[in-house]
Amino acid sequence: MDTNNTPSPNINNTKCLIIGSGPAGYTAAIYASRANLSPILIEGNQPGGQLTTTSEVENFPGYPQGVDGNQMMSDFRTQAERFGADLRSGIVTEINLTQRPFIAHLGDNSEIHADTVIIATGASATYLGLEDEEKFKGMGVSACAVCDGFFYRGRTVAVVGGGDTACEEALYLSSIANKVYMIVRKDHLRASKVMQRRVLENTKITVLFNTNTIGLFGEDVLQGAHLVEHMGTPREQKFDISIDGFFLAIGHKPNSDIFQPYIDTDERGFIKTHGNSTATNVPGVFAAGDVADPLFQQAICAAGAGCRAALEAEKFILNNEN
Ligand code: NDP
Repeated sequence: MDTNNTPSPNINNTKCLIIGSGPAGYTAAIYASRANLSPILIEGNQPGGQLTTTSEVENFPGYPQGVDGNQMMSDFRTQAERFGADLRSGIVTEINLTQRPFIAHLGDNSEIHADTVIIATGASATYLGLEDEEKFKGMGVSACAVCDGFFYRGRTVAVVGGGDTACEEALYLSSIANKVYMIVRKDHLRASKVMQRRVLENTKITVLFNTNTIGLFGEDVLQGAHLVEHMGTPREQKFDISIDGFFLAIGHKPNSDIFQPYIDTDERGFIKTHGNSTATNVPGVFAAGDVADPLFQQAICAAGAGCRAALEAEKFILNNEN
């Protein structure tokens, strides 16, 4: 008699498990399918990844007029499906990479046993770590202008950060809001020259250089931010701005937590790969895209890495077949 009440897991086997559905994951799925690896791809919480929260992608070759981020990812997905990739919604909650086949557990009590794994889980937005961010999350605080900007028509908003993402968000918000502050901790923007120029020439955007956010305030919803200019210097000056929305654009944290017991990462959590390869320290496990890219974090780089990971997985299987 079976005394164990836990139902047996539903097990699927594959030569190649791809985890993540951004440009890296879908490209890996296209190549792995065409190599007859019959890949299973787990799409995660945000199918299509970060590009689905971008308005216009202007720098992906092949789209001379630019392309909507959602449309581009939908095209990637369709192409992966066309070659037979098994695309599944859901998330990998746990994975055992100590021996092959590797075993991935999904939230729905199913398991995937895989000869190779391609990690393409991307990265997620970073927050400043202020208590007030938690208090006003969804009530004025957001890390996605394209998702939430709509609510701020005719209002005043602030974007934190000085990189390409912050500039992109500020420009997007300037087409909706009345006024946009950019809160930049240094005396210059880090973004590419073309984005800097667009921001600085936009009359709706005011850039507050050398400025840090130390708190947010409001009754039920966000009403403003406490800022400090030249923090920690003799010129330090505190002041407040009135805002209805506060958008974070200060970079991303790689989604590598569940792999860290097995996979080497750098101090920020980016997965380490060997030289020009996508191979990790575990033979048969490859990493592609933003989760393994502390430097470039571009869709085109992620797609290229996804291609390389699939080709390397194919080679690994050929070399390890009995
Ligand atoms: P970046 O790392 O390039 O920029 C992060 C920005 O946030 C910097 O200005 C940084 O300041 C600031 N920052 C970081 N931590 C804090 C903090 N605690 N408080 C205040 N400010 C902070 O990240 P992005 O997301 O902008 O871009 C990532 C990569 O993606 C880049 O390579 C970028 O070029 C690329 N990208 C390209 C796009 C495009 O080409 N269309 C669009 C979006 C991104 P500091 O400079 O002082 O470190």
